[in-house]
Amino acid sequence: MNHRCDFHMHTTHSDGSYTPEELLAYASEKCLRAVAVTDHDTVSGYDACKAAADKHGVELIPGIEISCQFEPGTLHVLGYFLNPKDPGLAQSLAVLQRARAERNPMIIEKLNRLGVHVTLQEVEAQSGGDQVGRPHFAQVLIKKGYARNNDEAFRKFLAKGAAAYVDKRRFSAEEGIQMIREAGGAAVVAHPKQLKVTDRSRLRQLFKEWMSFGLQGIEAYSSCQNVGEQKFWRDLGAGFGLIITGGSDFHGKNKPDVDLGWMGQGVDLGYDIVDELRAAKTVKRCS
Ligand code: AMP
Ligand code: ZN
Ligand code: FE
Ligand code: FE
Repeated sequence: MNHRCDFHMHTTHSDGSYTPEELLAYASEKCLRAVAVTDHDTVSGYDACKAAADKHGVELIPGIEISCQFEPGTLHVLGYFLNPKDPGLAQSLAVLQRARAERNPMIIEKLNRLGVHVTLQEVEAQSGGDQVGRPHFAQVLIKKGYARNNDEAFRKFLAKGAAAYVDKRRFSAEEGIQMIREAGGAAVVAHPKQLKVTDRSRLRQLFKEWMSFGLQGIEAYSSCQNVGEQKFWRDLGAGFGLIITGGSDFHGKNKPDVDLGWMGQGVDLGYDIVDELRAAKTVKRCS
């Protein structure tokens, strides 16, 4: 019996390049037993993912990834086993979709002012779905010769602080964690390296605060964290009694160096994490 799992990946419903059908077929090919699809700020891919998961014999955990306000780095909160049909969740996600729709033309405007000739139509065509993200801008910039690769596109134009960066309205950590919990999900901090906080006492303070909002887990294993970093985050999480999870953050062609199921040398996540996350999901009280 195979027990391999991957708890972090994206489809064309956000900024991955695989459709739900392609992604679940690939998960099956990779012999993954359970996967969580965690598109940014949307669950619009859930039904298609579920149908494909059933077809390919892979267990699908409903998931999401919410970007929250944070300095100096980025705070992404993953939600697992949430109810994708929850009306409160739909309302919160609509706020985030609007923020994205307002931001994207502003990025185009900044690019154009820099003499970079890219249109919103081109970026929308690149996304192929209903949500446009910065990796789609990056792909268009590469196609049109303004950047050699994804890294350069972000460094020169799209990353926080770069020439065409535009911030968008995000939820606070409290709002992000609570919206997941209120939709019945378990809340986990994604790729903590990207918080860009190294001071241990500051980290302890942050995790304590997030746990008071309802945080339950930490993604110690991630394709962006090396062996030493994984140990660091695992130890920190264990110290707080957090669930230790992991995920590849697979984006297909939009992040070509990261393969599905890969979260560092020799890392192989067991199915027991699925049980832990399932047990941690919020059981809604009926009044
Ligand atoms: P968005 O949600 O549209 O702001 O896009 C966020 C996504 O852009 C992230 O999930 C990453 O996949 C990608 N991204 C953000 N910053 C960088 C960076 N510095 N280099 C490469 N990719 C990045
Ligand atoms: Zn992404
Ligand atoms: Fe992320
Ligand atoms: Fe992600």
